[in-house]
Amino acid sequence: MCEWVRITASRGVPNDGRLWDAETSNAFEVTPRSAPESMRTRQVVVALIMLEREVLGSLRCTVPATETEHRWDVIVDHSSSIYVPLSDPVTRAPHMRTTIRSCLTSVFTASAAVTVLSSGITAQTTETQRAAAREILAEIDALQNRLDPTGMAQRLAGRGDAERDAVVTRTTELWQAEMRDLSDFIGQNPEVAWEEFLAVDTLTSVLRRRGWDVEIGVAGLETAFVATWTAPAGADGLTLGFIGEYDALRDADGPFHGDQHNAQTPIVYASAFAIAEYMERSGTPGQLKIYGTPAEEVGPPAKVIMHDAGIFDGADLLVRSHGVTETSRSRAGFGSCCLNINEVKYTFLGRPSHQMASWFGRNALEAAVHFYTLVDGLRSTLRPEASIQGVIPEGGEAPNVVPQRAVVDYYIRYPDPVYLEHVTKMMNDAARGAALATGTTVEVDRYGEYRDGISLGTLQELAFAYAGELDAPRMNPERTRPSGYEETGVVTKDIPGIGISVFSSRGANHTRGMLDDTFNEIGHTGFRISAEIMSSIVYDFMTRPELRDAVAEEQATLSGLLDEYHQALREAYAAEIGAPTGNH
Ligand SMILES: [Zn+2]
Repeated sequence: MCEWVRITASRGVPNDGRLWDAETSNAFEVTPRSAPESMRTRQVVVALIMLEREVLGSLRCTVPATETEHRWDVIVDHSSSIYVPLSDPVTRAPHMRTTIRSCLTSVFTASAAVTVLSSGITAQTTETQRAAAREILAEIDALQNRLDPTGMAQRLAGRGDAERDAVVTRTTELWQAEMRDLSDFIGQNPEVAWEEFLAVDTLTSVLRRRGWDVEIGVAGLETAFVATWTAPAGADGLTLGFIGEYDALRDADGPFHGDQHNAQTPIVYASAFAIAEYMERSGTPGQLKIYGTPAEEVGPPAKVIMHDAGIFDGADLLVRSHGVTETSRSRAGFGSCCLNINEVKYTFLGRPSHQMASWFGRNALEAAVHFYTLVDGLRSTLRPEASIQGVIPEGGEAPNVVPQRAVVDYYIRYPDPVYLEHVTKMMNDAARGAALATGTTVEVDRYGEYRDGISLGTLQELAFAYAGELDAPRMNPERTRPSGYEETGVVTKDIPGIGISVFSSRGANHTRGMLDDTFNEIGHTGFRISAEIMSSIVYDFMTRPELRDAVAEEQATLSGLLDEYHQALREAYAAEIGAPTGNH
């Protein structure tokens, strides 16, 4: 029986995008887990920075039963969890949970409240969500018991299969002979979102040389592409999709690959080319598709646009990987904390006039400022888990002209999409109020949506079992919170897939440390193993009908349960969000 201690920071948690990836939130989870000694120091430093505290190297508490002082190392991982290992007999004792909780409370008391939760309901963030999810989580558990993904994964990964091993060996060769250099090349030539022209040129020329059918500029996105390979035995078989990214991070010192997107498409190539060779020699019909997906780091979300345009339609499976700080797999289900986002742009339009006759004008900047202030005034009316942050990228041209046009751009986040809609509606009303008050008009443009995605136990466990077989470093024995295989979440609800997470950096995502590791043995090893796992999974999916059946059943069930969860949330919030907030 495992208990979870959740620490919720109530103030001052920096969110600068460097130490945090898309999973960022102000919520931390503490759970018992042992961790490799080597992880601790670095991870604690991350915790220190995130919590803005002076020292958090260890917890020091007096144990009442023994009157001795005990220390527990606290670690924080990339998924923003803080872990307290409860592995020794003293800390395992039931009464120690209380001691540790009060110890945590005293350590974090200035900035945090600490609560203990039971372990079965950790996918959701708030009490309301946990209550709404209770029966649904029981159904997910029942499904997992029936499908037994861990057992199936161990059987598949542990079996002898000379053909699979040949595909993996070929993947390794392709990585070492060509794709590692390709990854380094893209890493050394970083390009930010929507401007990845050199990367796309370089990547697609590799595909053309190998006879793939390449289409650049799909879904109206200049730097998106789809490449198709049809087996000599014909297209009439499975369609297996591989997703690769290549955009770099923005930085005052210039773009850089601090999130290791440079490696993603070369990893996919090593795997897809080896699979194609297998299909050719075995006479297996079907198609392989490689999706070049731009601009992961900024909105509007490219994968949503591509999905809406039908680019992924027909794919039976989607695979991808991402550089991470530990080898891990997530639990089956949904409930990722911070990936329900509405990106909304509010454009206020007024009337220009000279400063000395400003009463002829209508000031759009004043409207924007009123709106920005109104949103701050809303915060106490909204649940505290809402994260609302905006910028004013346009605010007029010259001080002596009444600004005719002003733009406020907001990222609105909530841990579930139902309450998120309520927050967005309140904000839209605030924008209209500001426009009304200033004699201006406002255009509301929701230009991007990210949603909680589905994570499949069948594929997560299989990836993790192969990670073990292939000696992936820094394997986290605990399952992490459910999270879709692509960050927009939208695609995961319709098409089964897997995001492979193999340790490839000692530095956190979005850092110079992660950039350094993309070029050295740490990154290269992680990327090679990612490609090998990818090939193993795709090969198994092609050749093992029992895996395909389990994946299909799990996908259909979880997708339906996600809808049920949202319905349960609508009922749970009815009294709260049914209040008069306007009829827009
Ligand atoms: Zn990324």
